[in-house]
Amino acid sequence: MDNLNPNDLSAIVEADRAHIWHHLLPHKQFETTDPRIIVEGKGMRVWDQNGKEHLDGVSGGVWTVNVGYGRVEIADAVHAQLVKMNYFAQTAGSIPGSQFAEKLISKMPGLTRVYYANSGSEANEKAFKMVRQISARHHGGKKYKILYRHRDYHGTTIACLSAGGQEQRNAQYGPFTPGFVAVPHCLEYRAHEQGLAGDDYGVRAADAIEEVILREGPDTIGALCLEPVTAGGGVIVPPKGYWERVQEICTKYDILLHIDEVVCGVGRTGTWFGYQHYGVKPDFVTMAKGVASGYAAISCCVTSERVFEMFKDDPTDPLHFFRDISTFGGCTSGPAAALANIKIIEDEGLLENTTRMGEYMLDQLAALQEKHAVIGHVRGKGLFLGAELVADRTTKEPADEKKVQAVVADCMQQGVIIGATNRSVPGYNNTLCFSPALISTKDDLNQIADAVDKALTRVFG
Ligand code: PLP
Repeated sequence: MDNLNPNDLSAIVEADRAHIWHHLLPHKQFETTDPRIIVEGKGMRVWDQNGKEHLDGVSGGVWTVNVGYGRVEIADAVHAQLVKMNYFAQTAGSIPGSQFAEKLISKMPGLTRVYYANSGSEANEKAFKMVRQISARHHGGKKYKILYRHRDYHGTTIACLSAGGQEQRNAQYGPFTPGFVAVPHCLEYRAHEQGLAGDDYGVRAADAIEEVILREGPDTIGALCLEPVTAGGGVIVPPKGYWERVQEICTKYDILLHIDEVVCGVGRTGTWFGYQHYGVKPDFVTMAKGVASGYAAISCCVTSERVFEMFKDDPTDPLHFFRDISTFGGCTSGPAAALANIKIIEDEGLLENTTRMGEYMLDQLAALQEKHAVIGHVRGKGLFLGAELVADRTTKEPADEKKVQAVVADCMQQGVIIGATNRSVPGYNNTLCFSPALISTKDDLNQIADAVDKALTRVFG
């Protein structure tokens, strides 16, 4: 049988309907709606099988395509590398592997080692395994617990879900891996629900982590794993004083700090990494989506030399070293794409653009908030923004989830793709999410804000 003709889009749609199990879609949707095939992309825009143009306000659906679509320079770099040398296991090195590691480390003072893998989940798993092995080798197996935060997400594997603070993502996938313990979220807008409203919320939200540590026993806690700015849990920008106190707590109890930069990493918030806004010193930083903007599958677990040293040779223990492999961590396409990606960000001044455009977009959202009572709170860091919708501004009761999804659908009709928290934290799937590419212009952002304005009027009146 011949391959399907790529220009026969109705045959492509039929094959999709017959064979593709789409990610995250409710099953009913397979039968009731036409699959959407994204055929082409250029800059901030994509075109579907019907030729309809969409402005992408979420960088590939899940905050990934940081430098935008159609980057020939990345494709060329990957092509040149693949014809020279496509793959060898990471037991050996590669030219782009060394080049990208050197570049990356130059952006991350205090960290020295890059462990290559393929997905955000996998990078987080590496860090979890390292923490467990450090506990086994240096703390008699006692310091094995890993703290995670309510509303954070760290990936889709069973161990990552065990560290997952979004109940609706976890439901029906248990039993989970033991040794993961939740701490409270730090969303100031909802501090009253935690009984923590008032001054110094940031410090007190971090103190709540210390309470969990004391309850569990500090010598049982190996690491604390946090998103710098929570993504799918509601675009939660940490409150003032939070990260400083988190750092103090980790130092005080000798707890390794693992920052999950899978979304924030490589420019999304206007700095190379989200944690760099807050002056903290992580022991592990994991990253994936923006590393190569989706042009190749690559993730990294970056560690300090202190962590690396904890695995050094021990003649009495043949199992002392990190006995882990990621087969496709050896694909050279990943670091080749990542190197070209980071060059674009540098050459085009995209960190500066992200900061400027992020402030502009926050102003646009604030203006919408003045007009639409349903917007309870707007927040963001760089081009990573959210607008939380509420049924009542005084009580802050979350808006009806179906209506929130109707806003997303209305924008889609208008040719603008935005996101919303969805099947994540029960009762709080009420935040519209925006993460347009770092190349966004004011015109692009105006188009997004205009679509949201019209959609809110139609859905909420
Ligand atoms: N960490 C965070 C903060 C994420 O948002 C995600 C995915 O959305 C992951 C980890 C998992 O990444 P992946 O889907 O590449 O496994």
